[in-house]
Amino acid sequence: MTIKATAMVFSEVGQPFKNQEVILNGIDSNEVLVRILYTTICTSDVHTFTGKRSTPCPCVLGHEIIGEILDKGEKITRDFNGHLLSIGDLVTWCVYAFDKSSEMAKKGIPQKSEGLYKYGHHQFKPNDGLNGGFATHCVLKKGTAIFKLPDFLSYKQAAPINCTHATIAGAVRVAGYLENKNVMITGSGMLGLSACAMARESGAKNVFAMDINPERLVYAKKFGANKLVDANLSPDEIRKLYPNEKIDVVIDTTGIPAVMELGIEILNIGGTAVWIGAVFNQPATKINAEMIVRNLITIKGLHNYTPNDLGFAVDFIAKNHSKYPFEELVGKEFLLDELPEAFESAQSGKHYRVGIRQ
Ligand SMILES: [Zn+2]
Repeated sequence: MTIKATAMVFSEVGQPFKNQEVILNGIDSNEVLVRILYTTICTSDVHTFTGKRSTPCPCVLGHEIIGEILDKGEKITRDFNGHLLSIGDLVTWCVYAFDKSSEMAKKGIPQKSEGLYKYGHHQFKPNDGLNGGFATHCVLKKGTAIFKLPDFLSYKQAAPINCTHATIAGAVRVAGYLENKNVMITGSGMLGLSACAMARESGAKNVFAMDINPERLVYAKKFGANKLVDANLSPDEIRKLYPNEKIDVVIDTTGIPAVMELGIEILNIGGTAVWIGAVFNQPATKINAEMIVRNLITIKGLHNYTPNDLGFAVDFIAKNHSKYPFEELVGKEFLLDELPEAFESAQSGKHYRVGIRQ
């Protein structure tokens, strides 16, 4: 199948997107061609756009993507869960393709495999240009974990699954058992709200949301948070506010050193901190080793996720899509050729997500 596609190519900070035509002359037996239906602008896309994060350039940004299968190689018959794949199926996929035989994949960390191919984060070439969300099509490479999506999910609910919700699924996995525990989520942005909902559904005793923005905090209640904490408070003030509740797990989505330090200080004996927000250049975080030792504290970092985490996130959203207002999180929608306006809107910080509908 030969198709004429369009990609919005990002070349460097400050330069406009270039609307580029891409001719695709068929796919390999291990590949899948997807017609993109919806992409949400992730915060990391905004970071690349503004120069806060670097990426191979030129490239097609966008990795929170869903689409329908337009064509598939003969070797691709089933999705990651074993469900038969057909032309027209609505799918999401892992943000990277990896080689199962690589050292890191064999150690259970596929997201750090040698030669990882990351969608929305890979160099654009005329013969390999359909690899990001801000295009009409995407070619899913060999080694991409694909997941069929239920038809009842709206595009707004489904698009953020393969970054936001899958990353939180990974964070909850490394945090361990959450049932009957007090879980604090620092930061009430897109990741934080997803974490509140997942902690709630994991059986947490209390879900504490922390942010400096009171409006965001109140909104976190809609996602399962039942205790709200102003991030300007000191550890002692927080303890006074909730004298009977000790924090067992902190999941940090802010990446702000002072907030991560506060999270460690507030942890109960035997507590665990999971850090996922610190994905940008920043000053060192201060940690008191004696406190870590005496309080038996565990700190874990997580970057990206495994295909199983994405599977968990797909099931989680399928089960809870109407229990929490995930749809509301995409506050504004644009068309693909309105991408510059969409990025302007995403940069304004008024919306948790901005969507591109096709
Ligand atoms: Zn992302």
